Amino acid sequence: MANSTDFLLALEGVTVSFDGFKAVNDLNLYIDKGELRVIIGPNGAGKTTVLDLICGRTRVSNGSIKFQDHEITGLTEHEIVKRGIGRKFQTPSIYDDLSVFENLEISFPRGRNVFGALFWNRTSEIIERVQEIAEMIYLSDQINQRAETLSHGQKQWLEIGMLLIQDPELLMLDEPVAGMSVSERVKTAALLNTIIKNRSVVVIEHDMKFVESIAHRVTVLHQGKVLAEGDMEAIQADPHVKEVYLGH
Ligand code: ADP
Ligand code: MG
Repeated sequence: MANSTDFLLALEGVTVSFDGFKAVNDLNLYIDKGELRVIIGPNGAGKTTVLDLICGRTRVSNGSIKFQDHEITGLTEHEIVKRGIGRKFQTPSIYDDLSVFENLEISFPRGRNVFGALFWNRTSEIIERVQEIAEMIYLSDQINQRAETLSHGQKQWLEIGMLLIQDPELLMLDEPVAGMSVSERVKTAALLNTIIKNRSVVVIEHDMKFVESIAHRVTVLHQGKVLAEGDMEAIQADPHVKEVYLGH
């Protein structure tokens, strides 16, 4: 009988084979509510594939993925988003021709109040929420600018904002600070530390300085398996980790 769990997200025995090659191999991974977990590991370790499996982009060959104690392995990507899992890809998918405001506005979840009587309420609700998110992602001053005029880092923040406005329980980010300046990295760390107050976050990241500034727990992935897991100090002291990753 399946055990019920207090974890927000639980992966058990998860395997995916691509033509016989196991990119993720019998993986167990548990994420708590309110946790900010960082996944690190060398190139090809299977990090992005793990996110693909959680968000339903890739199907598991074997194993179970439970979100809020419900099996999600059979669901479509869209259904998984509706369950409350948001995922940011490495390249931002924002609308260049639209303003920051419009990008956030179109991401606001629709269809909650479908009847006309609430129309004006909804509109002010959306405007308020868009402004709140814009401030959180450091783009209040750019709110009417077209997205294409933003810096690389600002575009990354905008995409994070587009996910936040959907209010996911779990937000997954694949290398969010790649290509960012030092000051943008510091602000991104502060942003992540703010947003975990209401949700859990899983971040894949290479930049160890950044990881140190955000991580609660770190999972080291290697050849599709968990090589080590613990706080930053324990991970940095782990001889296996040094061997496969940090020493390089
Ligand atoms: P990471 O994000 O840790 O760098 P990935 O998850 O992108 O690693 O890839 C893990 C391994 O799986 C790599 O060897 C990669 O080539 C392979 N892989 C990932 N996705 C596919 C796919 N759709 N088809 C075949 N092989 C894949
Ligand atoms: Mg990757």
